[in-house]
Amino acid sequence: MLPPLNLPVSLLGVLMAVRPCFTAPSFTTFCGLVAGLAGQVRRRTVVGMLLGACLQHLWPHDRAHYSFSRARWQLDELGLVVARLVVDALIGHGAAMVIKDRLLDESDGTIQYVCGNVECGHFAIKDRKGNLRCPVCENTSKIYPVQTSYAFKLLLDELLSLGVVMRLQLEDMR
Ligand SMILES: [Zn+2]
Repeated sequence: MLPPLNLPVSLLGVLMAVRPCFTAPSFTTFCGLVAGLAGQVRRRTVVGMLLGACLQHLWPHDRAHYSFSRARWQLDELGLVVARLVVDALIGHGAAMVIKDRLLDESDGTIQYVCGNVECGHFAIKDRKGNLRCPVCENTSKIYPVQTSYAFKLLLDELLSLGVVMRLQLEDMR
């Protein structure tokens, strides 16, 4: 029998929201790994998480790897629950108004060029000759200027650096 985890009530409150996505053993492992992830600031690895939660001598190392490879948990459902938690937290603390103010109302304007291909919607770039083209679908003809705030463009750049690609669906293309 493995020793129970002692987690802060605040963290446990957040984790209980995702409890239905796991079986009981998987949830215990997940809680330990999340606690380790929060406690470990340098090594974002399984070993780092076990070290961060001070579980390296209490849990077998394989337990964490088993959790990622074969344990039963609903990844899609977990993603939706976490997204719901983030949105609720942002709205609950008034961050939505601050974000709107910073992103849309108070930011400088900029004109970006967006691919008008219905399945695409990525930002176009200028090639060496100064011609606009979509870097994804290679479209060069249907590219439209869109006026937006510079902060919004920076937000899309930040998301892109995280591997999240936003596609813009132009109003008159729907
Ligand atoms: Zn395109």
